[in-house]
Amino acid sequence: MVFPKLPRSFTRKLHKTENKRERTIQGNFLIPVPPGSSLPDDFPKRVSLGEILVDAQTKRILSPVNGLASLTADRTHFQIKQDGAWRTDSPLQITSYTYETFLEICKVGALASLDFEHLTLDQYFSSFKKDGTFDIFLAPYARYNYLPFSNFILDEMPEAFKEFESLIRKIFPNAKIHNEIKPDFIPFKHPDGIPEFFISQKTGSTIRDATTALDSRTVMYLGPETIYHILRMAFYNEPFTRRHLYVCLVDRKGRMDTESRFYLLTNGQSLDFVIKNFDSRYKIASFQSMYEGVNSLDIRSLGNFDIYNHSILLLYERLPVIRNSFACIDCYECNTYCPTNANPIAVVKNNSEEFVKSQCIQCGICTLYCPSGIDIRSKIQGLV
Ligand code: SF4
Ligand code: SF4
Repeated sequence: MVFPKLPRSFTRKLHKTENKRERTIQGNFLIPVPPGSSLPDDFPKRVSLGEILVDAQTKRILSPVNGLASLTADRTHFQIKQDGAWRTDSPLQITSYTYETFLEICKVGALASLDFEHLTLDQYFSSFKKDGTFDIFLAPYARYNYLPFSNFILDEMPEAFKEFESLIRKIFPNAKIHNEIKPDFIPFKHPDGIPEFFISQKTGSTIRDATTALDSRTVMYLGPETIYHILRMAFYNEPFTRRHLYVCLVDRKGRMDTESRFYLLTNGQSLDFVIKNFDSRYKIASFQSMYEGVNSLDIRSLGNFDIYNHSILLLYERLPVIRNSFACIDCYECNTYCPTNANPIAVVKNNSEEFVKSQCIQCGICTLYCPSGIDIRSKIQGLV
């Protein structure tokens, strides 16, 4: 398989602390086997870039390179020893798809929804009726909008995006398309990238109704990172074997550096380069966003890039302070900042029946703003 030419957005940005000579890719790749997968017995075997390693129900894993693939002794990981280089000069190829060939290309490219977990795109598209009347939202924000994928699409692949819009118009002729990916700057604030929230804002409905619309397939939601990878596969022949990792630095005082810094990484590649590319004062790492809490790791044990689970990496100068949790001081900050009026204080006050569960989108904002350090989000997760 030919590998496509990289648009400018693929060029990783170099931070002043980075070693510009450092290569990010090493020759050995380690990829987790999805739990419960039934694995063929033909390993070790030679594989090519884009070849299926395993086709699990909710995830397809493709070989990210040409090389020799084997299983680790405990059969929990594929290990691939790369041999040879791959080409990076595949041009734009405007291809005409039918509904069936489009589903096939989603499958071949292992395209997954990056807006909803555990959903392949061929499953998602085929869960809508071809002649159904429903709304399709081409949304401008990725879940936490780490990176401006809308701009990547419009700056680097405008023709492909136009073609994609025509394609979905053709395959879902009765659907109404809302193209929200526009060239003008659209201010973002969390939780705008959470599908239920976005749809409720756009349609003026409650979170409950937006969730029902998404679940019952009267609304299709495609976020910009998902669209980005559709375009790469459908019009540049690039399967889902690489993904952007956004890196954010947090100093000793807990201040986040807002510079946009990212890498385009290959599934399974070692993350050892991170240690060499950043100042040695960054010792702690976490793959969670600030809204999800911190599962801290020593930066020396980052392991390998996992395309399904790694899209953000926070590097800390020191272990974030584990805030002691104090008694609620009735400041109502949680309720004030809750974007959906779910009444989170009720959970803290043990009045769970007054918490509006159906309105909660698990955004984590209430926890972030609580001055008493109460982990309201975890308490909610026990209820939802
Ligand atoms: S209750 Fe908390 S987690 Fe739920 S929507 Fe409100 S702020 Fe977000
Ligand atoms: S923000 Fe924290 S302290 Fe303030 S009312 Fe909510 S739970 Fe209580």
